[in-house]
Amino acid sequence: MSSPSLQIDSKMSFLLDIHELPRRAGEYKQYNLDLLLDSPLGLELISIGKDERILIEVTATSVNEGVLIRGRLQGVAKGECVRCLEPVIIEVNQNFDELFEYASKANALTEEEVETDEILLVEEDHVNLAIPIRDAILLALPVNPLCEPDCPGLCSHCGVALRDVDPTHSHDQPDQRWSALSALAEQLREGDQR
Ligand SMILES: [Zn+2]
Ligand SMILES: [Zn+2]
Repeated sequence: MSSPSLQIDSKMSFLLDIHELPRRAGEYKQYNLDLLLDSPLGLELISIGKDERILIEVTATSVNEGVLIRGRLQGVAKGECVRCLEPVIIEVNQNFDELFEYASKANALTEEEVETDEILLVEEDHVNLAIPIRDAILLALPVNPLCEPDCPGLCSHCGVALRDVDPTHSHDQPDQRWSALSALAEQLREGDQR
């Protein structure tokens, strides 16, 4: 099993240049972004892989406090079923909204707030979309991916994928042995009583 692919600690960066957006409330601009991933983005068991593309339509709107980003993100995540290990492919199609605030006296931030990304800021002429993109992808992906909702998984005795075998597939030898033993015990008990 691979290690968690999402490096939250590393400096995540995907800058959108918004210098053409007039900073007057109500003004907006649209952007079509084509993002190539330099490392996988997602969860341990399913993620959008390195060198895969993410397409994002973004509308950036000027508001009084900053810039409101509305995005729609599309990509393809690949992983494997937690029950039967078959490949799982999920088409990610996720919307996100994020307000990037202007740094000002009014919203004097503690360093903690900035470092934990509780508040995102408009940085000069750009906004860093990495965190909203990551969060949108995480939101769209299941922690326990399944090849189909009712995947029966693998046989706990022989490891065969139960979907591929007869529904009556079972290993009832141990049960037969137990019933043979209890029948024997029964006989012995009856013998004692005689
Ligand atoms: Zn499965
Ligand atoms: Zn089996």
